[in-house]
Amino acid sequence: MRLPFDNTYVKLPSAFYERLDPSPVAAPRWIVFNRDLADLLGLGDAGLEAEDGLSIFCGNQVPEGAEPIATVYAGHQFGGFVPRLGDGRAILLGEVVGRDGVRRDVQLKGAGPTPYSRRGDGRSALGPVLREYLVSEAMAALGVPTTRALAAVWSGEPVYRENVEPGGVFTRVAQSHLRVGTFEYFAARDDRENLEILTNYALARHEPGAVGAELPALTLLEGVISRQARLVAHWMSLGFIHGVMNTDNTSISGETIDYGPCAFLDAYDPAKRFSFIDAQGRYAYGNQANIALWNLTRLAGALLGLLDPVQTAAVARAEAALDKFADQFEEAWTRRFAAKIGIGSPLASDRALILEFLGLLQAHAVDFTLAFRHLAGTVRGNSERFLAQFPEPEVITPWVDAWRSHLRDRGISAEAAEQTMRASNPVFIPRNHRIEEVIQAGRQGDFGPFQRLHEILQRPFEEQSENEAFASAPEPHEVVQATFCGT
Ligand code: AMP
Ligand code: MG
Repeated sequence: MRLPFDNTYVKLPSAFYERLDPSPVAAPRWIVFNRDLADLLGLGDAGLEAEDGLSIFCGNQVPEGAEPIATVYAGHQFGGFVPRLGDGRAILLGEVVGRDGVRRDVQLKGAGPTPYSRRGDGRSALGPVLREYLVSEAMAALGVPTTRALAAVWSGEPVYRENVEPGGVFTRVAQSHLRVGTFEYFAARDDRENLEILTNYALARHEPGAVGAELPALTLLEGVISRQARLVAHWMSLGFIHGVMNTDNTSISGETIDYGPCAFLDAYDPAKRFSFIDAQGRYAYGNQANIALWNLTRLAGALLGLLDPVQTAAVARAEAALDKFADQFEEAWTRRFAAKIGIGSPLASDRALILEFLGLLQAHAVDFTLAFRHLAGTVRGNSERFLAQFPEPEVITPWVDAWRSHLRDRGISAEAAEQTMRASNPVFIPRNHRIEEVIQAGRQGDFGPFQRLHEILQRPFEEQSENEAFASAPEPHEVVQATFCGT
């Protein structure tokens, strides 16, 4: 089978990647194929939902036009620098230019070992495949920049983790797989020539309008900073915790990438972390902006030599760019959270009300998603479900009164507030306990719960009366305390 790949990364110098083919698997079976995404990619008419697609997305067939590679990168993992990581269980088949004119990578995850596998097997267990499919597609439906899921297949082979698990192969689509760690790799080797090539490549791919800029590295750095500032604010407005914000998982495109131990908050708690490996809470919910800035500082460090021939001048440029992060984050955060309480065009004076509300959610361990969603109902006097989130109405009614009069002072009508809130406060998020259910069933070969949850999460802002149970917070015995990378 031939697919309309148009590959550019493989035309970069050989230091950027290794050529290799995926390793075949024994007995692949379909789990899911994303027809809408295939259409967007211009692959809708290729017949990929049939046998050929299955053999491509499990790695048994390399389609014509693909030029499979594993890319190299470095990264700071939990603060410690690893000079060479690379795609240890991912293989980039190639790039396609979609119907929207956007170039995207098509990558297999779990398709066998690569020169960067170190002691890993290059494979994926089924659980993390289902989790990434569900959560990344839910994030897309929520409007968050993210990598996408094109396919998931069951490999028919076991993988050996703490237990023996069924294996799976996941097909990920991204605007690119360039990471902060890709830049760190060449910088750590003092490979200025390739760093420059990489910078120009990244700019051409993510900011084509800026090609030919006087200082490409500075333009790129500023672009990544503003994309990350907006991304992390967006995550926080939905209660999303990435869980493993290492620099190799920080995308240059500004997409959410690498859904390992990620999770959504149930009860609001800024110190919340789920990841089993994040004992210190480095990547806790409320620390994500700090860590994004830390990661961006690593990018600035990697690009330093390209910012100015004089080091002090280069540092000054880097610092000026990094200084913009805080304002950009705060602006995006305020815009997102103001919308969550019904304010479409925020002023600085709206922040106190938002912070006070969050403080009350924290003090009373209230479910983040339900509190904001049901707040919209109170606009028409339907306060019951909102008040039921709190231990007693008295703890929240003074805030509600203050909020109502604030909206009046700001000249925001009840209708306008309600509409703004319903468009920014989802009913359905991928709740951890629901994902666990899906994974348990999937391990037994039952993908019905996966399909159902996936469909619900495609319309996260709509009331779906038949699916009400999926909007609920977990019962105490259902609460998921920890998530695992599953690598
Ligand atoms: P991640 O935690 O998924 O971002 O992965 C961190 C690094 O470990 C990357 O270089 C991955 O390619 C590598 N890695 C993770 N899992 C495996 C595996 N099963 N086999 C080989 N390499 C892996
Ligand atoms: Mg990674």
